[in-house]
Amino acid sequence: MYGKLNIKPRTEQILEKALQGPISNDEALYLMKVDGNDLTALLITADILREKIVGEEITFIKNWNINFTNICSGTCGFCAFKKEEDDPDAYFLEITDMVQIAKDAAHDGAVEICIQGGLHPQVDAYFYESILKSVKAELPDVHIHAFSPMEIYYGSEMAGLSIEETLKMLKKAGLGSMPGTAAEILNDEVRKVICPGKLSTAQWVEVIETAHKVGVPTTCTMMYGHVETLEQRIEHLDILRNIQHRTGGFTEFVPLTFMHQYAPIYQDGISRAGTTGAEDLKLYAVARLMFHDSIKNIQVSWVKLGFKFAQVCLMAGANDLGGTLGEENISRSAGASHGVRTEPSELERIIGDLGRKPAIRDTIYKNIQKL
Ligand code: SF4
Repeated sequence: MYGKLNIKPRTEQILEKALQGPISNDEALYLMKVDGNDLTALLITADILREKIVGEEITFIKNWNINFTNICSGTCGFCAFKKEEDDPDAYFLEITDMVQIAKDAAHDGAVEICIQGGLHPQVDAYFYESILKSVKAELPDVHIHAFSPMEIYYGSEMAGLSIEETLKMLKKAGLGSMPGTAAEILNDEVRKVICPGKLSTAQWVEVIETAHKVGVPTTCTMMYGHVETLEQRIEHLDILRNIQHRTGGFTEFVPLTFMHQYAPIYQDGISRAGTTGAEDLKLYAVARLMFHDSIKNIQVSWVKLGFKFAQVCLMAGANDLGGTLGEENISRSAGASHGVRTEPSELERIIGDLGRKPAIRDTIYKNIQKL
């Protein structure tokens, strides 16, 4: 099949096998290191597999982001978003303000409101419950995608509740799904360097699996390109696919390339200066080959990659362009220049130019409407 590309026999053998079923961790690690024509063959294979599993549609969602506070007791070394309480740029939105923002967004067509915030000393699980109830009272049909596993862990501790009690309470209050953020790299040695105060790998897995158990689906993410090794990237992807085999609760995988520019770990010389484009492409392609049909949807983050490179990544195994996403503060604080809202017509243009089919989806990919 790879004929004139003249690739290495081992690459060819793994890629042909990949079209039949998920590749092993060793095979994934091998592919993470290929270059030249072998890299081209990897990208083509991931694209063929994407077509086989999810077809030609590229989806996106009309959504809006509310980051309710940037005051955070966390110490993540990659974070340029958090502020101390006495910082002149610190803010903490009132719940009534959040409701108003959500109403404006829904009026503007948003079907999903994504709510996340810093680990503020006055925040706990009951505060999250109040946000959900207040937004739902005004907008019963809007899907609320909210609270990272770190926030759930923190909110539970602050309220003296178990993770399961918290998640059941929040589901009852209107939580539709959760972002699988705070995953960074699921390896405790890496976490000690980049986010020492954050929940451990086992705790992240516990929050996610509990969410799936109580009926709250989540996305899953990976922030890569700082201090981790290629082996640790594969280990992370393997943890995600194993969770999916146990619970089936992941709706999509969202790779998040490290935004180094304003990150303290970069400024202090601890991390690399992010990834190269080839590394990003390999990550998308290898993830597609490892997940096969277990995590079907792979999202490109145009906020982090920019529209032009996001479009290229859609040719490497990805099938979703994320959201129209107004008010994205976290990536912008870290140096991304694309984190403001975009018009659906712009996303349609990017998709159409690839010869693929644009479609609008809901958060959990149940309702997909062709455009
Ligand atoms: S990444 Fe989140 S938890 Fe970590 S410091 Fe920033 S706002 Fe706080």
